[in-house]
Amino acid sequence: MTPTTMNNSNNSWSETVLEINLDALTHNFNFLTSKINSDHVFMGVVKANAYGSDAIIIAKELEKLGADYLAVAYSKEGIELREAGIELPIMVLHPLPANFDILVTYKLEPAIYSVNILNHFLRFLEDDDVQHYPIHLKINTGLNRLGFKPNQTQEIIGLISENKSVKIHSIFSHLVASEDQNETELTQTQIRQLEETASVISESLGYRPMLHCSNTASMVKYSQEQFDMVRVGMGLYGYTYDSEINQQLRPVTTLKTVISQMHHLQPGDSVGYNRGFTANQPTKSATLPVGHADGIPRKLGKGKGWVVINGQKAHIIGNVCMDMIMVDVSEILCEEGQEVIVFGENNPADMLAEAADTITYELISGISSRIERKIIRDN
Ligand SMILES: *Cc1c(COP(=O)(O)O)cnc(C)c1O
Repeated sequence: MTPTTMNNSNNSWSETVLEINLDALTHNFNFLTSKINSDHVFMGVVKANAYGSDAIIIAKELEKLGADYLAVAYSKEGIELREAGIELPIMVLHPLPANFDILVTYKLEPAIYSVNILNHFLRFLEDDDVQHYPIHLKINTGLNRLGFKPNQTQEIIGLISENKSVKIHSIFSHLVASEDQNETELTQTQIRQLEETASVISESLGYRPMLHCSNTASMVKYSQEQFDMVRVGMGLYGYTYDSEINQQLRPVTTLKTVISQMHHLQPGDSVGYNRGFTANQPTKSATLPVGHADGIPRKLGKGKGWVVINGQKAHIIGNVCMDMIMVDVSEILCEEGQEVIVFGENNPADMLAEAADTITYELISGISSRIERKIIRDN
């Protein structure tokens, strides 16, 4: 290759990376904890590889920042954190009997959600002669996903009140639509049901477990209903449904890629599989090494989605391929090797999620493990 005539400092020739900005995480943590009382327990939710970032990196930082608790969905996610040296209490939101042995070995705290699971777990603890094992009771107040029905209260009490194997650390529920202004009544009903159920259980236990029902959306919207603990996921990563709060948060992850090749298309030339795009005028396209197998929704193809190059939006043309996308850079001063921002700081993931007809949760948690994670701080 002859020496290039262009000598642009943006020309990084980096590969696709997911940058994780720990200063942005710190900022979000400080902002969110400023919204709760100092005696509230702060649980950082790091399930699904910390919403598609890196569970170990995020959990270690949260531990340093002073989070009180962590939550994961499955037992194996908790083991990964323990093996990385995380010592904070870890709640497992969706434990299954197949993993009770490792759950107990690694001191993970199950959210018990049904009589069936409670019976299985009690039997498991009795067989192993374990006492006062910390568990959490999940009450189904309307989401109808996981949880005891409030009318099962007496059954739960019958199983645990005289049982020394477990200690109930908390009683909680998950709200159906806390971000929705039109569902305030349902939300208030859910909160009341949790309170009533918990007070009956606490009375029979003779001690009062912590109560909690707030995820990010409800902790910012129903700040007076936070009880003893908040379970915060999305807010930590920089997004909420509340646009005002959103402005105060910073995206933690930024997906960056690079221009691998550029093409000058003539009218009639097409781009990608099945001629998903056909130029009707001279067009400059750039090919980027990131595709649907990396978590770029196929729905972003054919002009729906975009990336940012040199501060300007470049729309995706043609279909999203497994390992690549092509974007229109006709109006953008750029070159091969140049950095591209797919989403993150300066190109928020929530806008791109909307363009893909999905939610920020799905977009950011879907970034594949083949993309390198890189810790950064503000420079
Ligand atoms: C995922 C999850 C959370 C976190 O929700 P965010 O909206 O990301 O803050 C809290 N509680 C439960 C039960 C969850 O499954």
